[in-house]
Amino acid sequence: MDHFPVFLRVHGRRIVVSGGGEAALAKLRLLLKTTGHITVFAETAAPEIQKWEEEGKLTLNRRALAPGDTLCAALFYAADEDNAEDARTSAIARADGALVNIVDNLQDSQFITPAIVDRDPVTIAIGTEGAAPVLARAIKADLESRLPVSLGSLAKIGKSFRKAADALPFGRPRRDFWRAFYFETGPETIKQGEVAVRHGLDGLLADHLNRKARPGHVHFIGAGPGDPDLLTIKAQRALDEADVVIYDRLISQPILELARREAIMIDAGKEGFGPSTPQEDINALLVKHARTGAQVVRLKSGDATVFGRLDEEIDAVDAHHISWEIVPGITAASAAVAAIGQSLTKRGRNSSVRFLTGHNIAGFADHDWAALARPGEVAAIYMGKKSARFMQGRLIMHGADRHTPVTLVENASRPDQRIVETTLDALPAALSAAEMSGPALTFYGLSKRKAATAVTDLAPSLISHTPPAHAQEAL
Ligand code: SAH
Repeated sequence: MDHFPVFLRVHGRRIVVSGGGEAALAKLRLLLKTTGHITVFAETAAPEIQKWEEEGKLTLNRRALAPGDTLCAALFYAADEDNAEDARTSAIARADGALVNIVDNLQDSQFITPAIVDRDPVTIAIGTEGAAPVLARAIKADLESRLPVSLGSLAKIGKSFRKAADALPFGRPRRDFWRAFYFETGPETIKQGEVAVRHGLDGLLADHLNRKARPGHVHFIGAGPGDPDLLTIKAQRALDEADVVIYDRLISQPILELARREAIMIDAGKEGFGPSTPQEDINALLVKHARTGAQVVRLKSGDATVFGRLDEEIDAVDAHHISWEIVPGITAASAAVAAIGQSLTKRGRNSSVRFLTGHNIAGFADHDWAALARPGEVAAIYMGKKSARFMQGRLIMHGADRHTPVTLVENASRPDQRIVETTLDALPAALSAAEMSGPALTFYGLSKRKAATAVTDLAPSLISHTPPAHAQEAL
C-alpha cells in the first residue's frame, strides 16, 4: 500500500484549484460536495465554473496562480492540463505546505482522489493506486446500485441518536442495537418518513435496554480450502459479528481479513508432526472466551467435520453448557476434484468414495486396503504426503494395479494451486520431484480430465469450461 486511505477534515479550510477546463471541472464537481472553501485560479474558466462563482459556491480568480495564493490551503489541485504550468503551480503550493495533487500525474502527486460513493455521511472511497481506474469505477457502480439512497438519511438520524444509545452498555449490546437499526427497523420505517424512524428508534432502544445480555456462543466454521470466494455467506456473517476468532494454520489471510476489525484473533496453528497448540489449550480457549459472553468463531480449514478434531472441541464446549453450531464448508476434496475437472463418483466407475487420512494420532493410518485395491475405486487422501510410500506398499500388496492413476492437488483453490499427475507405481518419486510445501490432497483412482476445453491450468480457483467457438455461435 503506497497510499494510505484517510478522511481529511476540510470543513472551513481552503481548497485551491488551478485550471478552468475539463480536468478542473471534474475535480470541482467532487470538491463542491465538501464544506471546504474552494478557490479557483484560471485565466479562462468554463461556463459551469463561472455559474458556481455567481451562486457563491466558490471564489474565482481570473488570473494565473501566483506565489502566496495557496497560503493555508489544505489541498491543492494542479489541473491546467499543461505539464509546465502544473509543475509551476504545484511548486508554489508545496512551498505553502498544501497537499498537492497533479491531475493525471500520479508520480508527482502527494495524494490521489479516490472514486467516491456518496451516501453522506456514509462515504466510500475506492482507490487502485492509479493501477486500474476502470476497475475503481466498476466497483463504484456496483456499490452505488447496492446501497439504498436512504442510507445517508438513516446515518444522519442515527448520528443524532448516539447520545441516547449510550445508555446501552458499551460493546456488543450497543452494536446489536445499531445493527438492528441499520439493517432491520431503519430500512423498514424510512419509507414512512424521518419522524417514523425517530419514533422507531425510541422503541428499539427501550426494547434493547430491557434485553438480557446475549450469552456466549461458538460457531464451528468450515472456512473452505483457501479461496475466500468459497466461503459460505453464513460463515462470512459470523466472522463479521465475531468477538473472538480462533483459527488454524491453513486459514488463508484473505479470509482472516473478513473478521470484524475489533475481533481478538488467536492463532491456534497445528502442523502435522510439527509445532502445535495442544488440543486441550484450544478447548480451554473456546470455553474461556465463550463464558465471558463472547461470540466465538472457531475457524477450521475446509469443512470442520472432516479430519478436524471437531468432536473434542464440541465436548469441551458442551461440558460448560455453551451453545454452539456447525457451519459447513467446502472440504479440500471438493475443491481439488473441481480443479481436475472430475467427479468424486461416476456411474459405472465408483458408487462410493472414501475420504482417508494418511496419518492419525498413532502414526500411519490403517484402512481396508483390500477393498480399496479393487479396480475403479476412488479415494481422497488427506495429509497423505508423508504416508505415500506406506499406502503405495499396502495397496500393491493387496493387488492394486500399479498403473492406477494418482493425482495430487496442492493448494487447491489458491492462486498457487498445482496439479501433479502420476500413477501408484511412480507416486513416491513424483512426490519427491514435486517438492510440495503446501497442503495437498491426493486422489487415488482419479486422473485429470483431458478435455481440451478445461482451463484448469489457467484459472486457479474453479474450473470453467468454455464451449468451442462453433458451439458459442449456435447459442
Ligand atoms: N478439514 C479440512 C481438512 C483438514 S486436514 C478439510 O475439510 O479440507 C488437513 C489436510 O487437508 C491437508 O494435509 C491436506 O491434505 C488437505 N487440505 C486442506 N486444504 C487444502 C488445500 N487448499 N489444497 C489441498 N489440500 C488441502
